[in-house]
Amino acid sequence: MEIKITKTTAPKEKPDSSTLGFGKFFTDHMFVMQYSRGKGWYDAQIIPFGNLSIHPASTVLHYGSEIFEGLKAYRRKDGKVQMFRPIENIRRMNASAERLCLPQIPEDLAMQVLTEFVKFEQDWTPSSEGTSLYLRPFMFGNDETLGVHAVHNATFMIIASPVGSYYKEGINPVKIMIEDQDVRAVRGGTGYAKCGGNYAASNRAGERAEQKGYSQVLWLDGVERKYIEEVGAMNVMFLIGDEIVTPALTGSILPGITRKSCIEVLKSKGYKVSERLLSIDELSSAMEDGTLKEAWGCGTAAVISPIGQLCYKDKIYAVNNGQIGEVTQMLYDTLTGIQWGKIEDRFGWILEL
Ligand SMILES: *Cc1c(COP(=O)(O)O)cnc(C)c1O
Repeated sequence: MEIKITKTTAPKEKPDSSTLGFGKFFTDHMFVMQYSRGKGWYDAQIIPFGNLSIHPASTVLHYGSEIFEGLKAYRRKDGKVQMFRPIENIRRMNASAERLCLPQIPEDLAMQVLTEFVKFEQDWTPSSEGTSLYLRPFMFGNDETLGVHAVHNATFMIIASPVGSYYKEGINPVKIMIEDQDVRAVRGGTGYAKCGGNYAASNRAGERAEQKGYSQVLWLDGVERKYIEEVGAMNVMFLIGDEIVTPALTGSILPGITRKSCIEVLKSKGYKVSERLLSIDELSSAMEDGTLKEAWGCGTAAVISPIGQLCYKDKIYAVNNGQIGEVTQMLYDTLTGIQWGKIEDRFGWILEL
């Protein structure tokens, strides 16, 4: 599809890399494309970054028809820019779209518009250690009526934000509170879809944990409140004895691309990895008897986030004496090494622009 380009007449100054943070600054342009039933996707454009104007009855504002993705472009030492497994994000976005009755985007078209947009904005990819250009594709239902039904009109957009290093002061293990009141998702619901509504539903528990001095919550399943699901907006892994355990994708868990990459790296290095149900009782015993050796969250933003402390029903357990463990560090080094092009990509994950 041809993308119509309108260049900004007021290019912004690029922020200093020490002030970046996460999602505070945006590039000069954004990608927008429209959909209507019967017509398909049309009107692909790169336009100056700016506010949207939508109808007050627009579906997204009332019924939450919204999905998104998150991935990064990385600047290598030689100046080239590359992306990490973007096709996985496209496939997941289409799976989310299917769940929310939003239109899917053919993979070729989605890859084309994503790469053309990132190429167009690639000067915005910062180059300091640990920084990257965060890409946020998203889609929302945009019917101009209050009738409740599957979406007939939708808008797909991509915005981009230069982001700072997640670990400015070195990797510090985080404190996690196991949530036993709210649940994030249930089987049959939207847990496996990357949709805004899941985030809206998790905010209350996250807020409560923060007030108590914890950085995230560990979610239990919504039916029995017994099985470990995810930590905040990251997937979670545990080294118990010599087995690396991560919750199986039962439908209420977001299938993370970092999770998938961790599993592939671990298996390639000969570790025993199990995707299975892990109950809070099994985890508690492993914490009591010392067989829980390491725990970490994994997701695009932080890559790997070591867990140094877990709190369950006011009982506090230290993990690996609050230090980052060997396997956690290895995963961090391997994934960030491939993403920033410091080590060879033997998996075929990198797409160079
Ligand atoms: C995005 C997300 C993840 C991590 O997925 P990645 O593809 O690794 O970034 C995990 N859990 C939730 C709820 C998410 O929204």
